[in-house]
Amino acid sequence: MELIQLKNITKAYRRQSPDAPALEDINLTIHRGELIAIMGPSGSGKSTLLNILGFMDHPTEGEYLFDAQPLQRISSRHIHRTRNQMVGFVFQHFALLKDYTVQDNVILPLTFRKGKHKDRVAKATHYLEKVGLASHRLKKANELSGGQQQRVAIARALVGEPELILADEPTGNLDRRTGEEIMDLLQQLHHEGRTIIIVTHDDEVAKRCDRIIRLVDGKVLTDQNNYQNQV
Ligand code: ADP
Ligand code: ADP
Repeated sequence: MELIQLKNITKAYRRQSPDAPALEDINLTIHRGELIAIMGPSGSGKSTLLNILGFMDHPTEGEYLFDAQPLQRISSRHIHRTRNQMVGFVFQHFALLKDYTVQDNVILPLTFRKGKHKDRVAKATHYLEKVGLASHRLKKANELSGGQQQRVAIARALVGEPELILADEPTGNLDRRTGEEIMDLLQQLHHEGRTIIIVTHDDEVAKRCDRIIRLVDGKVLTDQNNYQNQV
């Protein structure tokens, strides 16, 4: 089942020559439940693509269908709410609020949703259990190790039950072994049916994805299934 279709997506930043846009004529279909790595050299358009996929930025040309809905139809007034409901983000530097507790960090995406505080706490606890950190929920975020902080960030990405998880170099700030543990967790979520897209420079991370999309100069160079990885 298709979750996302990008049709002839081009993105040229204002200060950029229209002859060398950040993304040029990108066509991609992303199915529900895929675990995808986006690779490519620095400047090839990976962040721009991730920002467009996560409704952080608008393409200059082309069409973006999310769940068969053209995104252009969502007014900018509603785009924050839509993003908050549809997409969970994981960043290289975790992006936690350091002086907040683990639990309060995880609850954050639920702030503007209906529901009782008690129910939000229950949801946060559920996802903290999933990432193995329920017993740390009342600690401050900065009391945790890097790998633990990234797991909190993953719980935060999951708590709103989004359709899509976008991760920008999620292992980039971790040692190899901790990075592998984060990939174990992302793979487990994938096996539970989640759709996950990871921007990475790391071949070890990409190897564990089902599909590897390589960008060069704003274009898709290759888009390959990683058969090794499919059971
Ligand atoms: P990557 O994530 O692969 O390093 P980016 O998507 O960040 O690539 O950048 C793609 C191209 O767009 C690069 O040439 C970069 O310099 C340019 N670019 C990125 N952001 C901006 C911006 N805000 N304004 C102008 N050019 C930008
Ligand atoms: P705002 O709601 O202030 O307009 P956005 O909704 O565009 O901000 O972004 C949400 C948050 O994600 C912001 O804190 C922003 O700094 C952060 N952010 C946006 N793009 C990226 C990125 N590529 N990597 C890391 N953080 C990002």
